[in-house]
Parts: sequence; structure tokens; C-alpha cells
Amino acid sequence: MMGPPGSGKGTQSARIAEHFRVPHLSTGALFRAALENDPESDVAKAAAVITNGGLVDDSVVMDVVAAVLTEYDCNVVLDGFPRTTHQADLFEHWLFSVGRQIDKVVFLHVPNDELVERLGARRTCKACGYIASLRLEDADTGIPCPRCGEDLYRREDDRPTAISRRLAIYESLTAPLLAKYIATGQLLSIDGTQSPDGVFKNICDSITNQI
Ligand SMILES: [Zn+2]
Repeated sequence: MMGPPGSGKGTQSARIAEHFRVPHLSTGALFRAALENDPESDVAKAAAVITNGGLVDDSVVMDVVAAVLTEYDCNVVLDGFPRTTHQADLFEHWLFSVGRQIDKVVFLHVPNDELVERLGARRTCKACGYIASLRLEDADTGIPCPRCGEDLYRREDDRPTAISRRLAIYESLTAPLLAKYIATGQLLSIDGTQSPDGVFKNICDSITNQI
């Protein structure tokens, strides 16, 4: 699954995984778990860099993904990897060496101005970690977590300067990656501006028609 920050990629990945009864492997979640389990590990240090909108060595990311994928002898929804053509090349070599393949690359397309608006209205729960996508006018009204009722806050990487930086990094890295998957015929580009249900249906229909 590919899509810029704020495209709904995480939500849709989880729904697709549930619908097709396969594991949802989010590299973001893997890194956050590593950060909590062993803050001194290489993976955790990499996670800290990523959390601040930066990038880590591709081979580090590939090692983490390979270690996790090896545990699953089935189809998976891979969310957040590869992010660069170099990562994609490393991944392709690894997949080939273990006799596996990418079936489809789903890209959620959302224009930048809408992403900036969505990310600017995103708040995270201090207690349960729930990410609330609010309306812009509600974002700073002290609205509580819809799941547990605790306070919401604005994560560092959901602040305006970080948002612009994240989108610019994402775009510069993934443009060549999209071109690559268009060329191989693996890319399914989905209009991410529809309602979450509309996007979900669109992805399901596309995947089902293609496999
Ligand atoms: Zn909460």
C-alpha cells in the first residue's frame, strides 16, 4: 500500500487486511514497537529518526521487513514499505531469493492541499494513541478522545512545518517509485478523495478484478 501521509493508507490497509483475512504489516507500527521494546537497538534508533520525519539507511529497513515477512507464509498487506526505488530494488532481490512476489501496488492519490488540511486537523490521544481525524474548526476546541475520553494533542510531525517537510520528502522519493510500478503494470491508482467506504470499495473491486 502506498500513499502520502494523510491519504488514509493506514486505515485502508487495516480494512483490506481484515476483509481478505491476511496480516496487516505496517512498518510504522513495527518501528514504534521496536522503540518501546528496546530503545537502544539499531531499529529503535532508526525509528526515532523516522518519527522526526527523517530517513534511515535502506538496508536497515529491509532487514526489519525481511525478518517480519519470514514469519508469515501467506499473503500480507504491506503498508509503508518500500518508500524509495532503492528500497524497492532491495525488496525485489529479497523476494526473488525467497520465491515470493508483489501482486499489486495500491496507491491512494490525494492532492497536496487536501493532505495539508487533513494532517493539520489530526490529533492523537495521550492515553490510548488513537488518531482522530477532526474537522479543522474542531481541532483546537479541546475535544476529547472519541475512544477513551482523554485529552488529544498535536503530534510533532503533524505541525505545519513538519507537514510540508513530510509531504515534500514523500513526493520526491515516491515519484520515481510510482513510475517504476506503472512501468511494471503493478500499480493500481485509487482516488483517495472519496469517502473511506468509497475508497475501500474501489480498492476491493480493483484487487478482485486483477487477481
Ligand atoms: Zn484515547
